[in-house]
Amino acid sequence: MSEIIFGPVNSRRFGKSLGIDLSPALKQCNFDCVYCELKGAKPIKEMSEVVLVREIITSLKKALIKYSDIDVITLTANGEPTLYPNLRELVDEINKIKGAHKLLILSNGASIVNPKMQNILSKIDIVKLSLDCATQKCFKKIDRPYSQIDIYKIIESMKKFRKLYKGSFVIEILVVEGINDKIQEFEKLGDALKEIKPDRVDISTIDRPPAYKVNMVSTDRLKELSLCLKDLHVSIAYRKDYKGKKNSFNDSQILNLISKRPQSSEDINLSFDDDSKKRFEILLEKKLIHEESIAGTIFYILPS
Ligand code: SF4
Repeated sequence: MSEIIFGPVNSRRFGKSLGIDLSPALKQCNFDCVYCELKGAKPIKEMSEVVLVREIITSLKKALIKYSDIDVITLTANGEPTLYPNLRELVDEINKIKGAHKLLILSNGASIVNPKMQNILSKIDIVKLSLDCATQKCFKKIDRPYSQIDIYKIIESMKKFRKLYKGSFVIEILVVEGINDKIQEFEKLGDALKEIKPDRVDISTIDRPPAYKVNMVSTDRLKELSLCLKDLHVSIAYRKDYKGKKNSFNDSQILNLISKRPQSSEDINLSFDDDSKKRFEILLEKKLIHEESIAGTIFYILPS
């Protein structure tokens, strides 16, 4: 059997992460996303191969002794971790032994429609759910879900979950050329997110070979689309080789930009020229701008 515990890996968005794979032997997922890094597979309703909680906890205890400097313990899977039938028991057991580390789950979001699952997820420090589209047509095209899954119910359930959940709620949107890269689709996502009220929205595109023949979009396109998401902390996954246009801002332009939307440290690094960065640093020192860490990503905001 493949390893249940993997890493640690340095994740740009969540910090140093020790992973737990809840489906180490095979892909078990209720989606068959066009962009999946695993091979395409028919979506399933429930897991058929299940690892024992006892086995996971024994491996995790050993790993936590070896890797005491991690930031997060990440529940993930070759597939969808919320399909793991013993998730409640597992989360309770991890919470007993995790110490100062945070527990994170990376889920495709479909199980949020189940109130029992909302209850389980509410015991996890950071919940990251995917929301690639806000219309059923687009959702079916990109995520190719198990037959009865309905994006409108998912969105409504995300809104309910936000009301009961006290931890850090992150939504991830993965953009694929020709499917969810239209302004119209993003405006609908923006409307849904305004009501869901996540703490952070991560936008990215394909960066590993996908399961099906689909293409990434450019970082500039991600930036354009992100402008449809108003009043949210948006983190764009810049490509490593991205060389965007450097802009010059005076003090009031910097404050105005940040008042319109919190800027991530990467936004500042990649789009401010050297003089503007110096002005930004001075504003930060004068406390006219505040720094805030949201689930491991630094944002700059205006003081309230
Ligand atoms: S939800 Fe994740 S594992 Fe499942 S098909 Fe989509 S990308 Fe792959």
